[in-house]
Amino acid sequence: MTAMGRPLLNRRLAEFGTTIFAEMSALAQRTGAINLGQGFPDTDGPEEVREAAVRALRDGRGNQYPPGPGVPELRQAVADHQQRFHGLSHDPDTEVLITAGATEAIAATLLALLEPGDEVIALEPYYDSYAAGIAMAGGLRVPVTLRPYEGRFRLDLDELRAAVTPRTRLILLNTPHNPTGTVLTPEELAAVAELACERELLVVTDEVYEHLVFEGDHLPLATFASRHPDLRDRVVTISSAGKTFSYTGWKVGWVTAAPALISAVRSAKQYLTYVSAGPFQYAVAEALRLPDTYFTDLRADLRQKRDILADGLRAAGFEVYQPAGTYFITTDIAPLGEKDAYDFCRALPERCGVVAVPNSVFYDNPDTARTHVRFAFCKRAEVLTEAATRLRTTFTH
Ligand SMILES: *Cc1c(COP(=O)(O)O)cnc(C)c1O
Repeated sequence: MTAMGRPLLNRRLAEFGTTIFAEMSALAQRTGAINLGQGFPDTDGPEEVREAAVRALRDGRGNQYPPGPGVPELRQAVADHQQRFHGLSHDPDTEVLITAGATEAIAATLLALLEPGDEVIALEPYYDSYAAGIAMAGGLRVPVTLRPYEGRFRLDLDELRAAVTPRTRLILLNTPHNPTGTVLTPEELAAVAELACERELLVVTDEVYEHLVFEGDHLPLATFASRHPDLRDRVVTISSAGKTFSYTGWKVGWVTAAPALISAVRSAKQYLTYVSAGPFQYAVAEALRLPDTYFTDLRADLRQKRDILADGLRAAGFEVYQPAGTYFITTDIAPLGEKDAYDFCRALPERCGVVAVPNSVFYDNPDTARTHVRFAFCKRAEVLTEAATRLRTTFTH
């Protein structure tokens, strides 16, 4: 559509039409297929957390504009959580900022830290909001492709170093990584930390799956500041309540970083939403203080779900890249004789009543991913078992 001879959607956003999730969820709805496309749980999180939100609503806490940086109870809870799980200390007044989910945190961070023309190195395949966020800020994305190697998607450190130019402003990291399910190794993280300090870069690290690591523990990039003190002034860490507490609709996220970085991000954030989710902020403050058993049970539950779906996919003939974290399994459909993941995903609901997404949409250079398909396993066990049965029946006959 045009007005006065010019497209309505500006040039920066022209390449971002409707997301793959809108397309595939509509397909799921139309065909009644099991939706393993979008990553949201099909059961709600802990009841006591929901009740905490109800209490906050009833008691009138957060029903009017909360403070711009977030309610003090939540900022303190985020600081305590970083200390409790990662040994990181943050001043809740100057080093924590509450946002409308990780999505706003990412957008505000990029809008705050980038000048037009700045280059941003991002791990490819990337979470879909990264490319749009970089574009909105006028930045240029420079992908570094994660490639399968001995069963896991690996970061090629030489490729990463070679991607840095005098115009590079920041590295946008994501671990555990959506959509590949890879968890960056201590060696990979150490190399990023060293590179950032050596080349004077900022690093924005999206760690929303910090509690969904199935082997070992999550290692935040920020912990490498103990080895590279310079790093403290370079790292912006982003997380959120959605994945950790299975309330993806609440959209409560947070940024932890040194005061100057928080102050910069806040400058952008205050003109995006200013504030959001008042009563939910109080509920998330309580959620972050749940006992260790909540977090270990969540992890065990998702690990079991991963195994149900991974086993089913293998039995159906898919090559499975075993995810070490997140909600997602990336598979290769080449062993099924398939050539194109997009065509495959468009046909899959009719063929076997399951929806998945083609990984090629998460790439600038989709050549390495033409036959890669992502399935979400954050669903009830019986749903995953049924999906596995449908896949096996369809592809082994
Ligand atoms: C889900 C997700 C987000 C978005 O988090 P919200 O808190 O819902 O905004 C950000 N990054 C990654 C990698 C995700 O998977």
